[in-house]
Amino acid sequence: MAPSVGNDRLCPWVDRAFWRHQPWMDHPENPRRLDTIVSALSRERLEPQPLGEDELPHRPEELPHLVHEASHVRRVFEAARRAPSLLDGDTYVSRGSLEAALRALAYSHALAVRAAEGRGCGFEFLLARPPGHHAGSRGAAMGAPSLGFCLFNNVALAARELLERLGGRVLVIDFDVHHGNGTQEIFYHDPRVVHVDLHQDPSTLYPGTGWPWDRGEGPGRGYSLNLVLPMGTGDDVFADAVKAGLEWGLEAAGGAPSGILVSAGFDAYVDDGLAGLRVTAEGFWRAGRMLAEASRRLGVPLLVFLEGGYTRGLERGARGFVRGILGRPQDIDKPTSSSRRVWERYREWKATALSPRV
Ligand SMILES: [Zn+2]
Repeated sequence: MAPSVGNDRLCPWVDRAFWRHQPWMDHPENPRRLDTIVSALSRERLEPQPLGEDELPHRPEELPHLVHEASHVRRVFEAARRAPSLLDGDTYVSRGSLEAALRALAYSHALAVRAAEGRGCGFEFLLARPPGHHAGSRGAAMGAPSLGFCLFNNVALAARELLERLGGRVLVIDFDVHHGNGTQEIFYHDPRVVHVDLHQDPSTLYPGTGWPWDRGEGPGRGYSLNLVLPMGTGDDVFADAVKAGLEWGLEAAGGAPSGILVSAGFDAYVDDGLAGLRVTAEGFWRAGRMLAEASRRLGVPLLVFLEGGYTRGLERGARGFVRGILGRPQDIDKPTSSSRRVWERYREWKATALSPRV
């Protein structure tokens, strides 16, 4: 059974170690991202804090094994010994990277424990670096060309820990503009984790996976949903996909999941830099509102994990998102509408994704 949400607050969490994952070349995934989102949240009177050391697991170096195979864990630890080094063309390991990645996992673990024990804030927001949703069981997931800036999968670890403690099913919703291929791979055969992923058309963006007809395999069949967003998608289509994905996910989870976990990337924001959607603060605000409403109505915790978002998305999209969660109005951006072509394309893909199981 899911614990009731005792405390209807939004708590953002950040650790100093998250700044120590540092590229030595020009790279979009850099510590300035944290400065940007921390300052955006402070404009909403939210001050990210570190968790107490007593809340964190004692042996963080054991955590990666809970969601990754030994071969991947060994590769990251070896890269850290050789640091600065590259795991692939996209993914760097600096001297502080392993500590940052293990602390991000430790925080993910601790937030799941707090939620399971009913001592969480209700709405938790982990400003993790490095991000995690591209890290699969054995590293680069589902045939992806790289780890996409990720080392270990934070949201997957929290999902596993919640299941361990509460049983039932957990719902993971990923609205980062890229497909959460690592998370999907880890749980593809597992009916206890319902995975809903919204992302830009895979034929136009890394990692190139996440098609509407991919729905899980074996006992996990029918527990993965991929909602594909055409290039140029605006706030209207984005919000429609969040709504459809949330409704589908709650039903697949059997009504009330043990937790709602969100892989929150803000790179669908217009001109954020790495993709081609036109979402503004409005789209993220509507996502925040819907997720918080479901969490309150069902009395289940909402745990949010930062994934991507590189420039304006972190500044304006993230502010819209927390305003939505907190029930504040959206006055940051003028909403964008999608063209008829975008709607048509989106509806075709959505119908395929939602068509009855075969
Ligand atoms: Zn992304």
